[in-house]
Amino acid sequence: MVNFTHLTKIFCIVGARPNFMKVAPLMRAFAARQSIEARIVHTGQHYDEKLSKIFFDELGIPRPDVELEVGSGTLAVQTAEVMRRFEPVLIAEQPHAVLVVGDVNSTIACSLVTARFHRNTSFRWVHGVRTRPVVIHVEAGLRSFDDDMPEEINRKLTDAASDVLFVSEASGMKNLAKEGVPADRCFFVGNVMIDTLMAARERAMQSGVIESLGLGGRPYGLLTLHRPSNVDDPAVLRALLDTLDQIARDMPLVFPVHPRTRARLDQSGIKPDPARLILTEPLGYLDFLKLMAKAKLVLTDSGGVQEETTVLGVPCLTLRDNTERPATITDGTNRLAGTQRASILQAFATLQQNAGPAKVPPLWDGRAAERVAEVLVNLFVTP
Ligand code: UDP
Repeated sequence: MVNFTHLTKIFCIVGARPNFMKVAPLMRAFAARQSIEARIVHTGQHYDEKLSKIFFDELGIPRPDVELEVGSGTLAVQTAEVMRRFEPVLIAEQPHAVLVVGDVNSTIACSLVTARFHRNTSFRWVHGVRTRPVVIHVEAGLRSFDDDMPEEINRKLTDAASDVLFVSEASGMKNLAKEGVPADRCFFVGNVMIDTLMAARERAMQSGVIESLGLGGRPYGLLTLHRPSNVDDPAVLRALLDTLDQIARDMPLVFPVHPRTRARLDQSGIKPDPARLILTEPLGYLDFLKLMAKAKLVLTDSGGVQEETTVLGVPCLTLRDNTERPATITDGTNRLAGTQRASILQAFATLQQNAGPAKVPPLWDGRAAERVAEVLVNLFVTP
C-alpha cells in the first residue's frame, strides 16, 4: 500500500524510455508543492538496465512505488496487460489523478483504465465534484495525421480519455481546438523533455563517450532508428542502412541500436560496415546528450530527438514522411528527409549547404514542469 499523506494524490505513469525524461522534472516540481503527493507507477514496458534503470539514476527520478512488470508483448498483449495490472492499483490506492506522458502503450492503457474507474469517495476539483480520478496528459495534442503509426492512435485515444491536457507546442493547441476539446482543459506549458535537457546539459558535457568511441576531434553524425515502419521489414531496413552508409562515407555515424532494431538486424543477418556505422548498445541519457550536442548531424526517427536537436541547434534529418512535432521544423533545425534513398540524399545535400541558425519554440525554456505543477495546484480544491 502506497502511503499517501497529502491531499492531491497523483500517480505518474512511466513505461518506456522517452517517458523517464518527461516525468523527471515533473516529480521535482511536484515535490516542491505542499498540496501534491506524486508517486510513480512503472509499468515495465521497458524494464532493462539500458532502457529503464539507468535513467532513474542519471535523472534523479524517485524509485517507483508500484512496478507492474508487464514486459514485452504485441501491441494488444502489452496494452491489455498494463490495463489488467493497473486496475487493482487504482482500487487499492484511490488516487485523485493519474498523469500520463507521451504516446506509448502504457500511456493509452493507463488513461483508459483511469477514465472508467470510480473511486470509493468523491472529491472536488474546479470543474465540480467527481469520483473518477482526473486523467492528466502531458504532451497532448501532437498529431502526425498518420494512423499507420501506433503512436498516433495512442495520442488520439489518450487525449480523448483525458480531462486536463498539457501541450508542448502551438500545433497541439490548434489540433485539440479542432477536435473540440474545451479550451479550459488545455494548457500550453512548453516542453518537459527540454526541462530535462537543460537541467542535465552541463553534466552531460563531462561525459567521455566521444573519446571512448575513438572519435576525439573527428566529425561524426549520430543515428537512431526504432519506428516499426523503418525497422520491422528487413528489405526496408536494409535499403535504409544502405543509404545511410552512403552518408557515412563523409563522416562516420554513431548508431546506438534500440533492442527492437537489434533483433531485426540479427534476424535478417544485416551487418553494417563498422568503419562507417559505429554500432553501440542503447546509451544512457548523459552520453547520448553529449553525442547529440557535438554531432555535425543527427539522423533519426525518434520523436524526442527531433526536439532535443532543435534546442541544441544541431541539424536533424528525420527519417520519416511526417512529424507530429512541426515546431521543430518551423522554429528548429529539423527537416523531413523521408525514407527513400533519393529524398534522404537530397535532404542531406541541401542541409550541408544551409544548416542555418535555429530559433527555439516558445516556452521550451526549462520551466514547463513548473507550469504544469502551478496549473495542477489550482485545479484541485483543498477542503
Ligand atoms: N536516448 C537515450 N539513449 C539512446 C537513444 C535515445 O537516452 O541511446 C534518449 C533521447 O535523448 C530522448 C529519448 O531517449 O530523450 C527518446 O526516446 P526514443 O527515441 O526511444 O522515443 P521517442 O522519442 O521516439 O518516443
